[in-house]
Amino acid sequence: MSAVTGKADGRKANGRPAATLAPPIAPVPLEHEDLVVRRGRRSDRYMAVAIHSTALGPALGGVRLWHYSEVIGGVRDALRLARGMTYKAAVAGLDLGGGKGVVCAPRVPPDPSLRRAMLLDFGDLTESLEGRYITAEDVGMTPADLAVVAERTAHVTGLDAERGGSGDPSPFTAMGIEAAMRACARERLGSPELRGLRVAIAGLGHVGAKLARRLADAGAALVVSDIDASKRAIADELGARWVDPEHELLADCDILAPCALGGAIDREVIPLLRCEIICGSANNQLADDSLADELAERGILYAPDYVVNAGGLIHVYREIRGYSEDQAVELVLGIEATVDRVLETAGQEAITPLAAARRLADERLAAAVRH
Ligand code: NAD
Repeated sequence: MSAVTGKADGRKANGRPAATLAPPIAPVPLEHEDLVVRRGRRSDRYMAVAIHSTALGPALGGVRLWHYSEVIGGVRDALRLARGMTYKAAVAGLDLGGGKGVVCAPRVPPDPSLRRAMLLDFGDLTESLEGRYITAEDVGMTPADLAVVAERTAHVTGLDAERGGSGDPSPFTAMGIEAAMRACARERLGSPELRGLRVAIAGLGHVGAKLARRLADAGAALVVSDIDASKRAIADELGARWVDPEHELLADCDILAPCALGGAIDREVIPLLRCEIICGSANNQLADDSLADELAERGILYAPDYVVNAGGLIHVYREIRGYSEDQAVELVLGIEATVDRVLETAGQEAITPLAAARRLADERLAAAVRH
């Protein structure tokens, strides 16, 4: 799973059925700079690019290749995700705007020639936006698919290292989550020290496994899970306790790190949580934003996902700006200070960290518009 960019809001297992990736998509406020919907001339499939904002820089966001029961669902997905990208980049302090692409694929997986046609059409659509939108890999796409898009446009980022891109962002994402955990621990537990803290990691994929290794090195006591039982080998290697994924969110711990799919934290699970802090990589961890208030009422510090998982976005930003690895690492470690600021604002204004993050993003965007 890639992740440059606001990827994947799927559903959890956690006692309830693992559902499809795309939840019903609610109407989205139309506050975007641009929305381009096109029917591909090769593929005859609909596709869209939503540009939410370019106030801070070109609108970056992956392209999602997915089946939507109606085209309008895909368009709404692009609008919603583009908006999220604007906030993510703004809070991370990056000079990037927010955008997102979708390609409305058929219900049955497309044969290779149709797949190629859709990708080339999307490349043309991206190219027609003349750099105001930069695309990347997202749900339903593979690195090879992105390379096909790149045959038609230069406005692509996050290609494989062999193709001249920056490659896998997950080490940066894991580094950023660890940095964010230090800020959360400082705020909630009185010290940024992770040694000895009990951390539960739900999902040992690209990010989760790397995070587990980092935290084991830092001396945390780990509880880990994954629906893929083969990941148990990672637990054994790190001396972590393995729990059944049905119970992963309910672990008695200091920090819960959801690192699988989105929507893990819902109204049913909140009363059952036994953690002080939630800080993980999954996008859209809260089934709905109002749950941030419920978590605060339960005394759980929820570190907004899009603030703490920005390491992947910073990684591709490096590619766009031509930064060195050292500069990228510095930016990723800066997530700790960003979370400090979010939590400070939340404390001063008596609002949730989610609301505080949004406020910081809005301030940065407003300042950019004024200039
Ligand atoms: P991945 O596909 O490599 O890993 C996900 C892991 O979660 C897999 O091992 C899968 O088996 C497991 N899983 C799925 N459902 C589960 C469940 N209910 N309980 C436990 N495990 C479950 O994905 P990834 O790249 O590691 O990304 C993880 C999350 O972080 C995603 O939500 C992604 O959008 C987000 N994210 C990733 C990056 C990145 O750099 N890769 C950046 C930002 C955000």
